[in-house]
Amino acid sequence: MRRKSRQIQVGKVRIGGNAPIAVQSMTTTKTADTAATIAQIRKLESAGCEIIRVAVPDGESARALKTIKENISIPLVADIHFDWRLALAALDAGVDKIRINPGNIGGLDRVKRIVLKAKEKNIPIRIGVNAGSLHKKYAKAKEGLAKALMDSALEHVHFFEGLNFHDIVISVKSSSVPITIEAYRMLAKMVDYPLHLGITEAGTLLSGAVKSSVGLGVLLHEGIGDTIRVSLTADPVKEIQVGFEILRSLGLRAGPELISCPTCGRCEIDLISLAEEVGEKLLSYSAPIKVAVMGCVVNGPGEAKEADLGIAAGRGGGLLFAKGKPMRKVPEDKLVEVLMEEIEKLSMVDPQW
Ligand code: SF4
Repeated sequence: MRRKSRQIQVGKVRIGGNAPIAVQSMTTTKTADTAATIAQIRKLESAGCEIIRVAVPDGESARALKTIKENISIPLVADIHFDWRLALAALDAGVDKIRINPGNIGGLDRVKRIVLKAKEKNIPIRIGVNAGSLHKKYAKAKEGLAKALMDSALEHVHFFEGLNFHDIVISVKSSSVPITIEAYRMLAKMVDYPLHLGITEAGTLLSGAVKSSVGLGVLLHEGIGDTIRVSLTADPVKEIQVGFEILRSLGLRAGPELISCPTCGRCEIDLISLAEEVGEKLLSYSAPIKVAVMGCVVNGPGEAKEADLGIAAGRGGGLLFAKGKPMRKVPEDKLVEVLMEEIEKLSMVDPQW
């Protein structure tokens, strides 16, 4: 059962309530470099990114927001630290949401000006509390870091509510998976605002994907979370791919599933490259199709009989199969092409997809 949360609107994307759990990322370009930032956002859009956040560290970045917004199709979120004037400038530039940690904006009077402007423009705010930037009064809290994250977020929520502002998303991230899980669990019991999940500074592609999958997976499986960002020290396109894999593995978003064997002594081709190529191509499909890439014709079709379509590779060629049953032999250099043609046909034929 998914936790009941109120719904907010970020540009054209709904977050919370019964809306699909949205996958978002953050650019790694200098925001002021509009050409590079727009190019990266478009690449992320193609990979399925549904909301994009950009850092706004200075006036030049704030001035770039309008141009960026005009040249992308997905909602734009401005990430603000320390300088309340940048938040106001971002709101004036027409962003769809801002993210602040109210504890580092420099006083409640400044936070109030941001909240009132966001209210006037009907723009939501994410209260993004991070373990690394907790206010010092919480940093030494005796009850532990998870509770400190929640208490800090709640203090800001109450301040926003006092200004009759409820267009709120909340995150309480840390780089520790157990602390993050505990903080979100506690927070989920206290408020009905939508929650943005993430493990912050999670690491490189492998370690970050594992930490994010474990942390976000536990919470999502408990019904907690309305939007996710997988933080990786890697190309942000990977964040989107990992994010969708997490959601698909839990049945929370539809999409293709790749089944591939780990290979063994029976495999006679470079199956890793083959599986990676098929995996990349599947990214542009939304049909919930199971596709197998297996390393031998003897065991492959049987081991992957739950797959709608698959290829089992042998020396110099392979076998195309469906639901474990052989369809035809295919030369090695045509394996991917033939598989993708069959996937295309199946995606068009099944009305459910
Ligand atoms: S499908 Fe074949 S190559 Fe792959 S693990 Fe199974 S037996 Fe080994």
